[in-house]
Amino acid sequence: MPASVLTQAQHELTNWNGRGFSILEMPFTGDEFKSILRSAQRNLRILLAIPDNYRILFMHGGASAQFSLVPLNLLGNAAQAEYLESGYWSQRAITEAERYCTINIAASSRASGFNQLPEQQNLRLHPKSAYCHFTSNETANGVQFHSMPDSGEIPLVADMTSDFLTRPIDISKFGLIYASSQKNIGPAGFTVVIVREDLLGRAHRSLPTIFNYELQSKADSLLNTPVTFAIYLANLVFQWISTMGGPSAMANRSVLRSAALYQVIDGSNGFYRCAVPPSCRSHVNVCFTLEDEKLTAKFFDTAAEHGFINLKGHKAIGGVRVSLYNAMPDDGVEALLGFMHEFALEHTADV
Ligand SMILES: *Cc1c(COP(=O)(O)O)cnc(C)c1O
Repeated sequence: MPASVLTQAQHELTNWNGRGFSILEMPFTGDEFKSILRSAQRNLRILLAIPDNYRILFMHGGASAQFSLVPLNLLGNAAQAEYLESGYWSQRAITEAERYCTINIAASSRASGFNQLPEQQNLRLHPKSAYCHFTSNETANGVQFHSMPDSGEIPLVADMTSDFLTRPIDISKFGLIYASSQKNIGPAGFTVVIVREDLLGRAHRSLPTIFNYELQSKADSLLNTPVTFAIYLANLVFQWISTMGGPSAMANRSVLRSAALYQVIDGSNGFYRCAVPPSCRSHVNVCFTLEDEKLTAKFFDTAAEHGFINLKGHKAIGGVRVSLYNAMPDDGVEALLGFMHEFALEHTADV
């Protein structure tokens, strides 16, 4: 969370807008909360230049729920869907979707140990597939699509959880985009779904009402109580991103910050190693290992002593992961670069 957002939330916590009550006490059906919700939708629409024929939903259940809700809402009469297999999170999405239809793996980068991305020229798409799903940034593997796949006539669906709002995107290329709130939006609790209007109305009849895109869209995401406080905080974050210069400014920043990290890794004479080739490297999650594996535990301990925490790689992958979500301050990244450099110097001298 950006520090300025936390401070504003603190100031407003007990007395929102001079009303004498807290956001935490507002009914979701009241005009006050509705004004916050509309403002959040409007600000997000402006930030990403979302065209009028796309609806913005704030849904429950995290991105993991969308792994099921995408097929349940979009399959319609189709019996199959396309998935790009590019790492841990796309595999999770595939495993869930397999319960609802036949999954065609349009392309996979499994052979590279998911250190690379499936390539456009290798995509094998079946025209009868309901949609084509991919994960724009593989949070655990540290690989990111720097140009989006092209699925032709088949609606393109993206899990953008870890790089949402870190760069501008051409929404019109997508049928649907979803992103959990806890990475770049900040507060945990909801999932943004941006869906093209013509894809509504295909939901499976067994789908619970609150998970139905069309019904949530008609009800302005208010079919039942939404996570009011998280949506309020998200709106403050949207305003903060706008003040910072919007997604293009976020992109410039994450390119520079990640490049500085990869430079320390590549310039360490093999002390740190990043298995991902430059063209696939994530600008958001920088994943690497220490050549001397025994030093990894010491790296985490020493880092923690210096105040650098949450650097452990995803439990399925191991190693080190530096997450450069939007709210991560630049001076924190600077300080970490210095620490990594020092640590490498110190422990190279040991050998
Ligand atoms: C974190 C993450 C998820 C899981 O999000 P939940 O909100 O915990 O369900 C899914 N996809 C990607 C790409 C992620 O980074």
